[in-house]
Amino acid sequence: MSEASHQKVHASHLRRNAYLYVRQSTMRQVFENTESTKRQYALRQRAIALGWAVEQVVVIDSDLGQSGASAVDREGFQRLVTEVSLGKAGIVLGLEVSRLARNSTDWHRLLEICALSDTLILDEDGIYDPAHFNDRLLLGLKGTMSEAELHVLKARLQGGILNKARRGELESPLPVGFLYNASHQAAMDPDGQVQTSLRFFFETFRRTGSAMATVKAFRGQGVLFPRRLKKGLHKGDLLWAELTHSRALQVLHNPRYAGAFVYGRTRTRAQADGRDHLQKRPRGEWILLPGVHAGYLSWQEFEENQQCLSANAQAHGNDRRKSPAREGPALLQGLVLCGKCGRRMTVRYHNHKAQLIPDYVCQRQGIEHGRPVCQSINGEEIDKTISEILLETMTPMALEVALSVQQEMQARMEEVDRLRRKQVERARYEADLAERRYLQVDPANRLVADVLEGEWNAKLRALHGAQEEYERQCRDHLPAVTDAARTRLSALAGDFPQVWVDPETPDREKKRMIRLLVEDVTLVKRERVNMHVRFKGGAMRNLELPLPLLAIEMRKTNEEVVREVDRLLDTYTEGEIALMLNEKGMCSGAGNSFTQIAVQRVRRTYHLTSRYDRLRALGLITVGEMAQRLGVTSSAVKYWKVRGVFRAYRYNDKGECLYAPPRKNLPGKGTRKQAYLKQLERPLSIKSDEVQYEA
Ligand SMILES: [Zn+2]
Repeated sequence: MSEASHQKVHASHLRRNAYLYVRQSTMRQVFENTESTKRQYALRQRAIALGWAVEQVVVIDSDLGQSGASAVDREGFQRLVTEVSLGKAGIVLGLEVSRLARNSTDWHRLLEICALSDTLILDEDGIYDPAHFNDRLLLGLKGTMSEAELHVLKARLQGGILNKARRGELESPLPVGFLYNASHQAAMDPDGQVQTSLRFFFETFRRTGSAMATVKAFRGQGVLFPRRLKKGLHKGDLLWAELTHSRALQVLHNPRYAGAFVYGRTRTRAQADGRDHLQKRPRGEWILLPGVHAGYLSWQEFEENQQCLSANAQAHGNDRRKSPAREGPALLQGLVLCGKCGRRMTVRYHNHKAQLIPDYVCQRQGIEHGRPVCQSINGEEIDKTISEILLETMTPMALEVALSVQQEMQARMEEVDRLRRKQVERARYEADLAERRYLQVDPANRLVADVLEGEWNAKLRALHGAQEEYERQCRDHLPAVTDAARTRLSALAGDFPQVWVDPETPDREKKRMIRLLVEDVTLVKRERVNMHVRFKGGAMRNLELPLPLLAIEMRKTNEEVVREVDRLLDTYTEGEIALMLNEKGMCSGAGNSFTQIAVQRVRRTYHLTSRYDRLRALGLITVGEMAQRLGVTSSAVKYWKVRGVFRAYRYNDKGECLYAPPRKNLPGKGTRKQAYLKQLERPLSIKSDEVQYEA
């Protein structure tokens, strides 16, 4: 100890206690590194040499066995800081003092407090007064270096781990169903029950396509799922428990089950409260090596499962909530999903030919954000198609298929039954084992005998429970379909089409029937309408429909009708044409019978020349023009027309006419009709396509 160091110790320091801070990082270090523990206690002698009394040296070693990376959980370090800040410490002793705190912030805070409370610091290198700038600088540097050292150590360790991981050689913990064999290779768990359970798990998911359904299948059939203890004294022991949804998802998302090596799916991040938080990393950042060891499913199956799970996740969102069957003829109300954005589509109705026609519309986003609707599809064809599919599906033959599937399920039930029996066997084996252990122990050794007897009793109770559960499951077992039931079911399937097409069957009932059979329908409108039907039980059907006509196209009048109107306009007025068309049984685009207005609309829409213009084009003149030419009043002209003197042609339904131009020999005032008519050589005739005048 140098002279200068001694000068730093004053009576004010010696009046207070000396705190010896002893720290070891991990339990392992505590056992293996007793050398440094000895060095730390040797510091006590230094304090005594500097003038502190033996009873003044307080040892703080409550951090033994805890990691020093943060002060949060370290009671000892906190206590040290408290004592220093209360001014109780004259000096703090520590082996490599900067390691008092493994974290720079903690360390600098301690230095600050030491400076304020005039506390010295001592390590193997010397004695420091944090109130002095140079000492404080040095101590600060020591702290920074110690943190850097820790960082380098960690980085080197992490680098080694990563390198091993990239080669797929890292022995990371395996999920249940795999164990490391003697040569440290990942291999299937040799326990037959574990393997069977996992195979049953993946088989069930393949069949149902849903994690929840898989969980339900396990629960419904009373099959347990294995788990291996990861830590503790019984590390590696098997536990059997009910399968939970989160557990099922973990297993389904874990690429190891497909025989892939994976590392870095999560990352640990320190949170503000000092606790660690697991963060999921995107798949692109994992180290993923498929085909490293044997698995329970193929890589392709694994990828398909991931897609299926992500689709399911979308299907259970808020927006996809199913709405119950309501009134209104839209068969798929509440069942239609938008194939463009994944939201649920709503129903709107429009009138067509006196019928309510549904439109399936995806408008949620449009309403919320004031954008145009995502897509809108005429539902008439879609509903028709669904009807056809259901009629086609619900035939006696289809039912026959369903019944044979049921038989297959029966076979699967027997498989499940075997699993359950194994559970009982295991319980019995464990009870036997406990019994043998109990019998082997010396009865005089009361303590051990009591414990073993308790264990035996517990195992017997477990066996009893397992047996009861097994019997209950057997009772609830679905009975095989009898021949009588088969006949009844076939009859029902035969009735279905009648009920379905019966107009008396209310819409709501039809919709409820659909809900029993169809899970949902996804629609996408592009060049054609793509329709993806998902049935209950997982069957799917993809259909393509032609684009439905737009409303305007649907109102389009038949071409034949237009041609007919065009032809009739030469000879008849619009009102007359309407009557004639109705007589012929023709109807408008909207499916209604014709009126004068409707014919007029057709004429205007298809730009047909009006009857007035046609007659004018033939040289016919108006009543005014006629009157002018004859030098009489309009009423006179009309009077002569009624008398049949002039040829006149009605051009509308109000009785307004156009007149054939007059000839030379006009009737004078008061001329009698017969006399005038005699003057005419031949009456003027107008045919549909031409007008001929006699010279
Ligand atoms: Zn949409």
